[in-house]
Amino acid sequence: MVHILSPEHRVVIAQVAWSHVLLAFDFDGTLAPIVEDRDEAEMRPGTARLFARVCEAYPVAVISGRARDDVAHRLGSARAKYVIGNHGLEPGADMAPYESFVRAAFSELAHALGGVHGVELEDKTYSLAIHYRRSRTRREARRIIHAAIDGMVTPARVVEGKCVVNLVPPGAPDKGVALRRLRTEQGAGVALYVGDDVTDEDVFRLDEPGRLVSIRVGESPASAAPYFLRDQLEMDELLAFLLALRHMSDHATTQE
Ligand SMILES: [Mg+2]
Repeated sequence: MVHILSPEHRVVIAQVAWSHVLLAFDFDGTLAPIVEDRDEAEMRPGTARLFARVCEAYPVAVISGRARDDVAHRLGSARAKYVIGNHGLEPGADMAPYESFVRAAFSELAHALGGVHGVELEDKTYSLAIHYRRSRTRREARRIIHAAIDGMVTPARVVEGKCVVNLVPPGAPDKGVALRRLRTEQGAGVALYVGDDVTDEDVFRLDEPGRLVSIRVGESPASAAPYFLRDQLEMDELLAFLLALRHMSDHATTQE
């Protein structure tokens, strides 16, 4: 894994910035820092300003695990061309089966996990999340959650996250599927994707040399992403560099 902002690797960003690229970003832990209370998650004002300008300069997608409306409201004045929620499945053509999935899974889990301190079920309409950030004994909370999932009759895809276990309808499009679809829809030759969590590995694993540049926030030997940012603060530097590159290429075009 290499640091994408190192002087010798910045050229990778320059190459995509000067081509027909779709930029795509996860939200929590990527555009916005992870916070104790997930309802409070937002971009730093500086990030929000840079991100809004990046959305003017490039086609941009935000692909989040949050419900689509939830993440859309957190983008402020930025006009991202695409906003995808629920780990890649929202919006979609036929959402009814996902709603049935959530109803079934939720009632099973509410029964098994009701009253477990610090464990909270979030109904996101088309997928659900079991949060345990507020638990004082996170390891134990996670064990109880997995025991509850093992006891479920409703089949589910389990996606680990940072102090969260996500349950997604089996067979639903994941973030990787969503990104590929958007890139095609946009007619872009290449996509640049930045994410920080297990659900983002569905993009990182696509392994499409020349068509995808994937960057993980935080170096991790277990990740399939070839590039990393050291931490979420470096997102601002990446956004500023992407902007500078587009303005340079605009300038070059004007002078031709
Ligand atoms: Mg994230």
